[in-house]
Amino acid sequence: MNAVELDESRLSKNHRLVYDIVQEQGVGRHLPMAELYELARTRRPGIGFTTVYRALTRLRDMGLVAEIALPGADSAYYEAAAPPHAHFRCVECGTVSDVAFALPEDVLTEAAKRLGAEITGGSVSLQGRCARCGTATVSVN
Ligand SMILES: [Zn+2]
Ligand SMILES: [Zn+2]
Repeated sequence: MNAVELDESRLSKNHRLVYDIVQEQGVGRHLPMAELYELARTRRPGIGFTTVYRALTRLRDMGLVAEIALPGADSAYYEAAAPPHAHFRCVECGTVSDVAFALPEDVLTEAAKRLGAEITGGSVSLQGRCARCGTATVSVN
């Protein structure tokens, strides 16, 4: 991935810090902005919320970090850039998990044809109760 390496070298010190923090979380970890900010502050006390936010926005635009908006979540989550996958969010505890699923190419092609549009991206998000919450809670409905 030469393009990514090139882009990395153009990062400012603050952007680099935020990038490293997201990368260090590893695959399958999704952190909201507030938690990333706390982590950044432990490394560089005095770093501003806005600085971290701008860094995340820039890293997202560069394709180095993925921003995930999930229904029912108060804020977006961030993760290291990864191959397309879907997300599951537990409505009880808010845990976000990766699901190995990508929108099938033929479905996208068909949708684009029907809409007469160019589809440049998309995401799938699922919600429900995770294994822990599902077994602990007896549904009243
Ligand atoms: Zn749960
Ligand atoms: Zn993910």
